[in-house]
Amino acid sequence: MANVKTHYEESDVLIVGGGMAGTGATFEARHWGRDLKIVCVEKANIDRSGAVAQGLYAINCYMGMQWDENQPEDHVRYARNDLMGMVREDLGYDMARHVDSTVHMFDEWGLPMMKNEKTGRYLREGKWQIMIHGESYKPIVAEAAKKSANKIYNRIMITHLLMDDEKENRIGGAVGFNMRTGDYHVFKSKTVIVAAGGASHIFKPRAVGEGMGRTWYAPWSNGSAYALPIAVGAKMTQMENRIVLCRFKDGYGPVGAYFLHLKTYTQNANGENYEKKWYDHTKNLVGEYIDHHPTPTCLRNHAFIQEVQAGGGPIHMVTKEAFQDPHLETVGWENFLGMTVGQAVVWASQNIDPKYTNPELTTSEPYVMGSHATCSGAWVSGPEDLSPKEYFWGYNRMLTIDGLFGAGDTVGGSAHKFSSGSFTEGRLAAKAAVKYIEDKKADGIKVSDKQHKDLKEVIYKPLENYTVGRNEITGGTVSPSYISPIQGLQRLQRIMDEYVGGIATNYMTNENMLNRGLELLKWLEEDLENVGAEDYHQLMRAWELKHRTITSQCVTEHTKFRKETRWPGYYYRGDHLKLDDENWHCLTVSRRDPKTKEFTMEKVPVYHIVDEKKEKKAS
Ligand SMILES: Cc1cc2nc3c(=O)[nH]c(=O)nc-3n(C[C@H](O)[C@H](O)[C@H](O)COP(=O)(O)OP(=O)(O)OC[C@H]3O[C@@H](n4cnc5c(N)ncnc54)[C@H](O)[C@@H]3O)c2cc1C
Repeated sequence: MANVKTHYEESDVLIVGGGMAGTGATFEARHWGRDLKIVCVEKANIDRSGAVAQGLYAINCYMGMQWDENQPEDHVRYARNDLMGMVREDLGYDMARHVDSTVHMFDEWGLPMMKNEKTGRYLREGKWQIMIHGESYKPIVAEAAKKSANKIYNRIMITHLLMDDEKENRIGGAVGFNMRTGDYHVFKSKTVIVAAGGASHIFKPRAVGEGMGRTWYAPWSNGSAYALPIAVGAKMTQMENRIVLCRFKDGYGPVGAYFLHLKTYTQNANGENYEKKWYDHTKNLVGEYIDHHPTPTCLRNHAFIQEVQAGGGPIHMVTKEAFQDPHLETVGWENFLGMTVGQAVVWASQNIDPKYTNPELTTSEPYVMGSHATCSGAWVSGPEDLSPKEYFWGYNRMLTIDGLFGAGDTVGGSAHKFSSGSFTEGRLAAKAAVKYIEDKKADGIKVSDKQHKDLKEVIYKPLENYTVGRNEITGGTVSPSYISPIQGLQRLQRIMDEYVGGIATNYMTNENMLNRGLELLKWLEEDLENVGAEDYHQLMRAWELKHRTITSQCVTEHTKFRKETRWPGYYYRGDHLKLDDENWHCLTVSRRDPKTKEFTMEKVPVYHIVDEKKEKKAS
């Protein structure tokens, strides 16, 4: 690749991904590191990137401590309950105690917040959510990052992390390419904060063909947050805890405001409350967890899935009553205009006016995330004042690689952070990264020319594969020598869908299926050496696919390791259909050896710090 231009940049703090967590990290790094060089690299453009790109209608994580609405302990209890006991309470508490200050800054920066006319407080949508006019949420937080960074690089996809050649297990930077110019970028840095979002499109989506971009989770979220650290040997946790969402059918429009603010509710095709019907059945699987309040998200999905399987579908959201109130009708529509315009378009195209027709709901294909009602991600150190010794190794939000930090969807174990909590976690990670530098932990880092030159060959190989292989095209785009990114993606999605608990099997899997899935993923990985890219955009697609594949391997290994069904409604282990607190009341942690590419798995105790419940040890 002699004709590709190489650019070099050196920084103190390098932020990979300028979404919610990345902008938070960039902003806070400047606060603590006045004279440090802070660089943020983003695959898209930070003004409109990440899951929040098209705006939000609610900030889903706000304590309201100034009015004593909630305390951090309450949020820990809530997240613990929703995730069936399995969260890192130190991380959750740490986020919750700081999140209000983040929201107050958003308010100062001009984000239009809705206010309760009577009390003057932020208008609550639910216990944790406050309502905003959030179409411009992302440009507002991006501005704070732009003012804080020495440089923001847009349109650069980071493909690999660089390691220090002097000291084992220490970070050295990252490399990637510009998707418009094709130039190669080498970022040497004392610390790196990965904030690259979660993973959609690793499981086959319900919408295929022309509609395949219409998923709940943004199609550009491709698992780099997981693949980058996994590839250099960082430990991951709870990767089996993929999330399935119950949303309006076809448009995946949000249901939060409908349930919480409009007080709409669900029913089966016969107008019955089907959730009650599945109580005994669910109790038999998960025991007392079904009696928790609020009902864990996965268990509500479970009732939905069972009801549809038993022939009670379609499931509807009862909107006809609420929409008779003109105020609620307006809120219902504006909710979509603020964040999912596509749902309004779908309803228009299907002749659905929710005032007269109750719209259908569906359960989505699974996604991998760390910030929603799920907590897959990297195994990180917690804060010094809260974390038990197994959870603390020096710097808050540092992964098991020295100098490598994470935030937002990247970080595992801390669910229900949402947009505000992800931004907050970015701030926490940046503060710790600056301290790491001040403590001189990053002195003497060396990244050899060989390291980044070798990676350059690897990164541009798909262009080479295409240039050579296109001479053998037998028809259309079919060549015996390479596969295209879309062919590879569809193959990945089928493997995950059919073997690892996607929609094809109604979220069901078992050890035999997972073993077969792992075998097929291995062969896919081998074949991806031959992925071909016609242009720089396809080169991005090729690397997105490679990152999705490594993420999928990790998800599959974790799913195989946990021999129980902890979250029915997210997925089922048919060979271990019941929740098993005796053996699996623990967190799962994996590491992939960068040399052998083999995963090793371990159980780590889950500590219940809030309420000081006795730790239940899994054998
Ligand atoms: C459909 C949906 C609805 C939601 N609704 C709400 C809501 O109503 N309220 C709320 O508070 N929260 C909501 N959330 C949650 C919120 O959006 C996330 O918690 C938050 O965006 C996570 O922040 P993040 O920085 O980890 O990821 P993101 O904000 O997604 O940012 C990741 C960034 O990394 C970039 N990136 C990815 N790969 C690379 C790479 N290889 N190189 C460089 N850059 C890369 C991406 O382009 C992106 O900008 C919702 C999420 C989804 C998906």
